[in-house]
Amino acid sequence: MGYVDEITEEQLHTCIGQGEFEMYLQPQYSVAGNAVVGAEALTRWKHQGEFVSPAKFIPALEQRGLIAQLDSYIWECAFSLQAEKQSEGILLIPISVNVSREDFNEIDVYKTLTELSGKYDVSPAYMHIEITESAFVNDKEIIYETVGKLKDFGFMILIDDFGSGYSALNILKDIEADIVKLDMKFFDLTDQNNVKARNIICSVIQMAQLIGLGIIAEGVETVEQLDILKEAGCDIIQGYYFYHPMNVADFDALMRSLNKGRIRKKADESSFGKECIAESRKLLEKAEYGDALTLVQRAAEQINPATDPRTYCDMQNLTGVIYGAMGNELLAVEHYLAGLSVALKNDFSVVSGKLYNNIGSEYQSLKDHEHAIKYFELSAKELLRENNSGQENYVQRAFVTNMNLCVEYYALGEYKRAEEYLNQAEIFVKTPGMESGMFHFLAVQSNLYMKTGRRELAQKGFPHLMELAFNAEDRSDFWDDMEMLGNLALELHEFAAMKRVLDNMENQLHMFSEEQIGLDIQVKIQEMRLAYCKEIEDEKSLREAELAYIELCRKQYLEGKRTRAAAIDYKIQLNTQYEENVQYKKQIDIDQLTGVGNRYKLEKDYKTLKKISGENGGQIGVGIIDLDYFKEVNDTYGHLQGDYYLKVVSQVIKKIISSTGGIYRYGGDEFVVLLVDVDTDVVTKIAQQIKDETESRQLCNQASDRNVLTVSQGYVVLDQIKNIDIWQILPYADRQLYNVKKNGKHGYRIIDKLI
Ligand code: C2E
Ligand code: CA
Ligand code: CA
Repeated sequence: MGYVDEITEEQLHTCIGQGEFEMYLQPQYSVAGNAVVGAEALTRWKHQGEFVSPAKFIPALEQRGLIAQLDSYIWECAFSLQAEKQSEGILLIPISVNVSREDFNEIDVYKTLTELSGKYDVSPAYMHIEITESAFVNDKEIIYETVGKLKDFGFMILIDDFGSGYSALNILKDIEADIVKLDMKFFDLTDQNNVKARNIICSVIQMAQLIGLGIIAEGVETVEQLDILKEAGCDIIQGYYFYHPMNVADFDALMRSLNKGRIRKKADESSFGKECIAESRKLLEKAEYGDALTLVQRAAEQINPATDPRTYCDMQNLTGVIYGAMGNELLAVEHYLAGLSVALKNDFSVVSGKLYNNIGSEYQSLKDHEHAIKYFELSAKELLRENNSGQENYVQRAFVTNMNLCVEYYALGEYKRAEEYLNQAEIFVKTPGMESGMFHFLAVQSNLYMKTGRRELAQKGFPHLMELAFNAEDRSDFWDDMEMLGNLALELHEFAAMKRVLDNMENQLHMFSEEQIGLDIQVKIQEMRLAYCKEIEDEKSLREAELAYIELCRKQYLEGKRTRAAAIDYKIQLNTQYEENVQYKKQIDIDQLTGVGNRYKLEKDYKTLKKISGENGGQIGVGIIDLDYFKEVNDTYGHLQGDYYLKVVSQVIKKIISSTGGIYRYGGDEFVVLLVDVDTDVVTKIAQQIKDETESRQLCNQASDRNVLTVSQGYVVLDQIKNIDIWQILPYADRQLYNVKKNGKHGYRIIDKLI
């Protein structure tokens, strides 16, 4: 096949132009979900009536610097197919496209992909990017950088051919990937290496899960292979066992036969859809989220974005709001984006502005200020496009958007920018009819004054602020407003005002049932009360407030678990028969009080580590961390507070080590940490950080000479763990811990040998 090896750019273009290259799709199947959840785009070339294998022409094109020409053509096919399905009103599933490492040398991969997303108006959420693991070995810089940017734009990144030999697990922690695709080499099972292969597969899957990556197994052909994967907890399969790659027409037919219910009906039924939306909105107001969601999902089946784009946007927006109210920001954003793509296409700038703003708010509630700002700014741009017209609620929306931007820049400490937006907002808030926004405006302004050394101005405006707060009639943001006011009063040392605010909040509290109010607000009030008591130095009420606070935190923790559980339940119902097993397995790994892993999980994770250690050669660290004078905490303050301290310390540790390893509850007041790929220097840094962070929490402990809770830590750092059990290492770490305890506690010791 000399032609392939010597093909010129011109010839390639002719072949592409004549339709010789065709995009095939291979479905990716979720076993648990019993559904096709994605598809990979694979190129087929029929030249002079014969198929040429990709194994031939891909390397040839790569060598001749032409692969990008073909790849960008196939990417475009994928985007255009998604756009077509989108316009038919079919729920999209993501398509994976391949990006060759040579593409990075030939074209601007980021620009090409993002422009396609814009051109076809297909959200990056529906396009996955496959990059083979070998690409990450050399030419690191540009690939890492591009991957980061693609991810920020919203594409998911898949590491292709993972485990095919170039690298090992250590690349996983450097690349910001979302999913790894297990290479089919893993399945070259022969009789001799069957057990070993199984172990490796299990380890890799567990390891990937440990660091939060998804997994797709490729090249699954037999039921034995499938069983191994199921057992190892890998759910998504791409292989001949389920489906071969197929042309678009066949793929279409397959999806239609599988997902009858998902293909929406035509426009004449949209009045039913509208009724569902109206009904759902009412349920949302009553905080009946589950039912609201069911209804809006029924609406989704009826509404076609091509024939009724407005209702479609409305529906997606409402779905987002419901998910947001349920605390699932990610799903919320997904629906806002779906609405957005239609709103932008139809030039509904009011709707786009609203959707951008809602996305920003979700990020706001996640405290991700950078992203929040990005979307609030987009929202502001849409406002400008409305050319200041008398569009519905224009002033109101302009005020809200500017205030949102102001508050976010404020949160980032960029006070100058914050003030610029505040000044913009001022124009709108002074418009007749906007009186209700005045309080929020002035409160933010005063806070800004405080931060920028204009205390007198804040002081001067304060009485007016109090007056506004207490004279307003209908206050939708009552709790937020009061919190802002209270904190301001505290900073201005206006203690009488602070007390008034607190009393006001507590009075309101009694007018509602506990459920109506929600624990978050109660916690907020209690936090303010704590700060207040501290300032006025009233020991007795401080103690009372502390106890009440701890009790609330505990309730909040339990409640959080309940709502999360309810949300999970709901998802399971939607996805039909989900293996109960999976849930159960996760549960028994977790320490109920602190939510970190337990001994059982420690043992499991260590085993995984042991199996793969040596392949990447990094050292591991094992540490034991113990709360100093913990018995005294329980004796003095009660078990409730003891539990709370355990929770706080576990969170402190978890946060510090999250990118390096795992934490496990080992004994009553002991935690074990497993650190991967670390040396003594890194462990020293971690230990110091844990020490400082714990102390800075200022959890009182009279028994300690420092009066606050501290921890002691002992570590071992090793580079060869092949033949050692975790239970053999721990005594050495324990000995270091013992030495610290003996020598006044509140410190750490690290050794790098088992002596
Ligand atoms: P890949 O990205 O790893 O794609 C998966 C390959 O495994 C496909 O081969 C697919 O047909 C094959 N496969 C899937 N399930 C099974 C199975 O159960 N058993 C076996 N034996 N094979 C299975 P294909 O289509 O021949 O492509 C080969 C390689 O060529 C791809 O490997 C990819 O690296 C490259 N390739 C294909 N299309 C493109 C493209 O458009 N652009 C670029 N850059 N590379 C492409
Ligand atoms: Ca691939
Ligand atoms: Ca692959």
